[in-house]
Amino acid sequence: MSLIKELDTQLANKIAAGEVIERPASVVKELVENAIDAKSTEITVKIYEAGLQSISVIDNGTGIAVDDIELAFGRHATSKIHDDHDLFHIRTLGFRGEALASITSVSEVEMKTCTGNESVYASVKNGVITDQKPTRLKRGTEITVSNLFYNTPARLKYIKSLQTEHGKITDIMNRFALSYPHIRFNYYNEDKLSLRTTGSGKLGEVMGQVYGMKVSNDLIKVSGETGDYSITGMVAKPEHTRSNRHYISIFINGRYIKNYILTKAILDGYHTLLPIGRFPIVALHITMDPGLVDVNVHPTKQEVRLSKETELKELIATMIKNALTKEMLIPQIKIKKQKPSEIFEQQKIFYEEQQSHKQAVNENTEPINQLDDTVQGEHQHKADTSTDKQINYEEVTEDIKSEPFIKATEEMNNISPKLPYMEVVGQVHGTYIIAQNDQGMYMIDQHAAQERIKYEFYKHRMNLVNNEVQPLLVPINLSFSKDEALRILEYVDQLKAIGLELEPFGSNDFIIQAVPTWFPNDAALVIDDIITFILENKSMDLNKFRENTAIMMSCKRSIKANHYLTRTDMERLIEELSYTNEPYTCPHGRPITILLSSYDIEKLFKRVM
Ligand code: ADP
Ligand code: MG
Repeated sequence: MSLIKELDTQLANKIAAGEVIERPASVVKELVENAIDAKSTEITVKIYEAGLQSISVIDNGTGIAVDDIELAFGRHATSKIHDDHDLFHIRTLGFRGEALASITSVSEVEMKTCTGNESVYASVKNGVITDQKPTRLKRGTEITVSNLFYNTPARLKYIKSLQTEHGKITDIMNRFALSYPHIRFNYYNEDKLSLRTTGSGKLGEVMGQVYGMKVSNDLIKVSGETGDYSITGMVAKPEHTRSNRHYISIFINGRYIKNYILTKAILDGYHTLLPIGRFPIVALHITMDPGLVDVNVHPTKQEVRLSKETELKELIATMIKNALTKEMLIPQIKIKKQKPSEIFEQQKIFYEEQQSHKQAVNENTEPINQLDDTVQGEHQHKADTSTDKQINYEEVTEDIKSEPFIKATEEMNNISPKLPYMEVVGQVHGTYIIAQNDQGMYMIDQHAAQERIKYEFYKHRMNLVNNEVQPLLVPINLSFSKDEALRILEYVDQLKAIGLELEPFGSNDFIIQAVPTWFPNDAALVIDDIITFILENKSMDLNKFRENTAIMMSCKRSIKANHYLTRTDMERLIEELSYTNEPYTCPHGRPITILLSSYDIEKLFKRVM
């Protein structure tokens, strides 16, 4: 006897609905997408009981012809694509032809539609049209979905609180509004207006409606283009930040998408302007040839696959960076440009002179800045000044003291300092340390300085063969899309080599139970950074991975601009810097120190000619 049977249509639709219609917000998403595809200029959405009681979507689009009604509710029936070529050149939001069929299999649907000529009313239950008759309507479509999941109790159980579901719908409506500033959206919850946009086409205006006026006053326009991509958008000034990535919206050809790497590119654009753990408010519209993007990788189409992702990533990061820099630009005093190499040369010569002078004075003196670790919790700082300075660890701010850098740099080099002694004078803009010695005045970029220190520290630790680990009180769960999980799997061994053990859990998830003892306190954030970093980079061998991870971690975890330091912090930073192998440039090659020589100062004041 044969056991295999073809599923009946209703059952097949219910199975498809399991993928496409996860929750009330999915219904809203599919119906609004249809309204947009139908070229509507105004779309109204009304929900009751977070959409479980009913969802109505009213549009003024093309409408559906009477002869197409039955097909529209059928599975795999679409007016949007016809052949293979179309599938790889999608210009509409829908194309799978399964949304209406899925929705009608798990709810009761009523629809009125008019193409401009005839108007029809239809009601559908259990996937079957139960009533169809002429009606009166202006051009457009009105669909009402009621009693969602009434016949799939398991799905109903899975639904979270009404508040959560309502939140998800609001989120989707906000993204539609941001994605289509030319469309007028009206969104009502329990008859109360929750969002209204004007359809003026101005993205900044919509951002005001979605995120509030305060944000909309502080938006910067961005745009950029390569042969393949064109981008326009708005980014909020860095003073407006949020605690998660939720306020970043990326639209590709009008479709809201989630993409780790492009989000990261946006964060890179802000670079040091964002405090650690804070995220910006951004909306970007990317347009590209539909042939360069595969949207058919996920039933809900939020994940897409892009060709030339690196090109796009770089375009986004530089575009945002340039826009922000331009905005932040303050007039500068122009002094004669010095090449970094010249500065280092001068510093080296000066330091060598200082050293030989000292040796001549006292043959038995220890090298300057030699660290003495015998004093518990304190450091003896022997400099070429008459009094010894003591650095008290307690005074050092959390930013700085969390990791045992001095110890590490000592362990790594155990050599004399590479910078001449300089006395801290103060700090400018919470960003540059000003210091002096006979040679002149130094400006030290505090972020670059700490980057260098941390980079050497992390690299040293990562290269140790046996990384000691400490268990986490709460294990870290990581959850990925299939694509991402596969990529992460390629890196499991390399991560293990630096002391991070990822245990696979379920098909796309991993658990981390322990982290290396040298890890910073915010392990979850560090891991998030490392993962993002892996996902956005081409394959690397272990050495390159260690090197790049150390650079990335050092940059992320270093004190940023606009951070005020105490004098002790500054002294300690310079001291630590002087013990690194390469105190002259940050790991990205930017200079750490600029010297304005005493001679140049005198020249500027015309004391010498
Ligand atoms: P898809 O959007 O993938 O084509 P759907 O099941 O969502 O599949 O819709 C099936 C078809 O019904 C669409 O291709 C479109 O022709 C028609 N349709 C659905 N909603 C609307 C609407 N609001 N206005 C005009 N046509 C619509
Ligand atoms: Mg659709």
